[in-house]
Amino acid sequence: MATGFDDLAEQLEQLKQQKLYRTRRQVSAVEGVELLLDGRQVINFSSNDYLGLSTHPQMTAAFQQAAAQSVGSGSAHLISGHSESHHALEKELAEFTGRERALLFSTGYMANLGVLTALLGRTDQVFQDRLNHASLLDGGLLSGARFKRYAHNDTSNLQAKIKKQDGRTLIVTDGVFSMDGDLAPLTELSALADANHAWLMVDDAHGLGVLGDAGGGVLQHYGLTQQQVPILMGTLGKALGSFGAFVAGSEVLIETLIQKARSYIFTTAMPVAIAEATRCSLKLIQTEAWRREKLHELIQQFRYAAKQQGLTLMNSDTAIQPLLVGDSQTALDCSQALLEKGFLVPAIRPPTVPKGQARLRVTLSANHQLQQVDQLVNTLAIFFNDKNS
Ligand code: PMP
Repeated sequence: MATGFDDLAEQLEQLKQQKLYRTRRQVSAVEGVELLLDGRQVINFSSNDYLGLSTHPQMTAAFQQAAAQSVGSGSAHLISGHSESHHALEKELAEFTGRERALLFSTGYMANLGVLTALLGRTDQVFQDRLNHASLLDGGLLSGARFKRYAHNDTSNLQAKIKKQDGRTLIVTDGVFSMDGDLAPLTELSALADANHAWLMVDDAHGLGVLGDAGGGVLQHYGLTQQQVPILMGTLGKALGSFGAFVAGSEVLIETLIQKARSYIFTTAMPVAIAEATRCSLKLIQTEAWRREKLHELIQQFRYAAKQQGLTLMNSDTAIQPLLVGDSQTALDCSQALLEKGFLVPAIRPPTVPKGQARLRVTLSANHQLQQVDQLVNTLAIFFNDKNS
């Protein structure tokens, strides 16, 4: 007999028992990397605001000035929501990333869903890195294309799976893996795509602004052209300190998305104030290069200090510096112990990461001070030493 949804409470209880239950905490005041979290003052090591731009006075001023005129954009881009500010930002993003055109989406999640469902159908095939972001995996499944995952960053495994050419082929990867911080081998992947008449799509949510000499992201880091990587997705809510996302590529790609991407067509355009604040942050990324340099200095310092203390780091040179812990309970305990000492570092558990690979995801920002990084490492070392003794 059908019981409706009577099992929901039981399912929640199971999540609690498995230490996989998620809760939210209230952030009630923010100043740079210092937060008030449920009333307790903490240093935030969990944000994706890698360059510290979200609180930059020029950004907030640009936002306020535009917000004085209007808050909501009022409708979708294809109705009357596409403002001059959106259009100017798209042009600037295309220029910044060295692509012909760019198209704004309201979030990165929607951008990934939009691209994959617009381009792929049942007769196509899509190959995705096993550790790709959930939005890429969801978009691939929703598209109805034949969907295959390859072993993380393993081009031989991908080549073996791709061997049987059938229909149009898209290879999709994160540029910087969001829970590991490592880079995809994009030069090899683009060569492999080319050899197999496939297209390559890169999600550069965590590389844009951080990597590349001018902060152009992972494609600038590797020096890859639009021809080598026809589809670039970037988010605006991380190093750019704003909100939203974009897709960059050829004229034909962008026009196709305007006609076909349902998560673009059937949603309200982002507020103009967000677009104006993002235009400001794009300039700051270029004029305040010291932020990128400081971030990289902090990354080096974190890794050096952690190694000195015998902590096990993952293979990452980016702002994402996870410490692999293994089981969810230890990750939660460590996160809690850090919180008690005034550091916010989240425990990342399945299903966000594979089973048995729970971790602490430390993220660094140009707004941190060297001393705060050292204090964090010392506190981590004390926790693991106590646990192992
Ligand atoms: N791709 C990756 C790799 C991400 O890490 C995220 C955000 N965590 C997204 C896409 C989604 O972006 P947004 O938060 O703008 O929806």
